[in-house]
Amino acid sequence: ERERLTRLRHTCAITSDGHKVELLANIEQPGDALAAVRAGAVGVGLFRSEFLFMGKSGHLPGEDEQYRAYCEAIDGMQGLPVTIRTIDVGADKPLDKGHKDNHLNPALGLRAIRWSLADPVMFRTQLRAVLRAAAHGKVNLLFPMLAHQHEIRQTLAQVDLARAELDARGAPYGPVQLGAMIEVPAAALMVRSFLKHFDFLSIGTNDLIQYTLAIDRADEAVAHLYDPLHPAVLRLVADVIAQGQAQGKSVCVCGETAGDVGMTRLLLGLGLRSFSMHPAQILAVKQEVLRADTRKLAPWAQQVLQGDEPEDWREPVEARRQGF
Ligand code: PEP
Ligand code: MG
Repeated sequence: ERERLTRLRHTCAITSDGHKVELLANIEQPGDALAAVRAGAVGVGLFRSEFLFMGKSGHLPGEDEQYRAYCEAIDGMQGLPVTIRTIDVGADKPLDKGHKDNHLNPALGLRAIRWSLADPVMFRTQLRAVLRAAAHGKVNLLFPMLAHQHEIRQTLAQVDLARAELDARGAPYGPVQLGAMIEVPAAALMVRSFLKHFDFLSIGTNDLIQYTLAIDRADEAVAHLYDPLHPAVLRLVADVIAQGQAQGKSVCVCGETAGDVGMTRLLLGLGLRSFSMHPAQILAVKQEVLRADTRKLAPWAQQVLQGDEPEDWREPVEARRQGF
């Protein structure tokens, strides 16, 4: 089986009825780009930049150090696009593991973009490093956990300010596409306004499931209730994909769902054409894509969306997972 999958590395991901599908990699360190290219990824859909910051006990990497790390990832991808997500610390990803987060609800607290906007000097250091790295290759810039209009405004203003700071210094930088993660139900419900301000969207199903169902994604005691097939989650995902498509903007899924072979057919049926996942999942998902016929999957996916109970089609999803 493994050998058969390896042979798919250089095969384009196209459904049996001719739809091209983009299979991208999630990475945590610049060195992971090697595994991404080896797995046949056509780019990095999610570089979780917080891993450059974690475990440094109070010392955050400066602009040049970050710039070098981003360039290393870009070089590693050999000309393929790299989507860098700004720092997403807090909750399940504490900056310093030794330091206990004393906040009552860290997942609902100062994390991700909230954390960045609370420290604009630190935020712009990262933005300048990314913008400079964009002079070396194709870079997309992605922002986690946005929920409010004023957060969108502040974020975009910080990008402008970072560019102005580079201009003032005469430092070269490149163009970037700007994207928002849709991982809070409020953002999914307000997707139209996100589409007004951003070039692309990326659905973070890990957090979207957590916040839609009020299930801590890291709590074993409620892990059985953490359900990517819950109709409420699927309806939010479906709507974001449909609205993005209607505006001609790219929508990716970059949570674990994207690398779950049990979910590939359903996501294709909902119209998704861009998936970002751990490199180890890419070939198995590609195999599902090659076998898929969206003419059959689209009406089936609509039926699934109308249902109240996922039980009747949970079984086929499980069976596909077992098959790999
Ligand atoms: C997500 O929430 O689905 C996501 C991709 O981001 P992270 O897992 O890093 O929170
Ligand atoms: Mg997330």
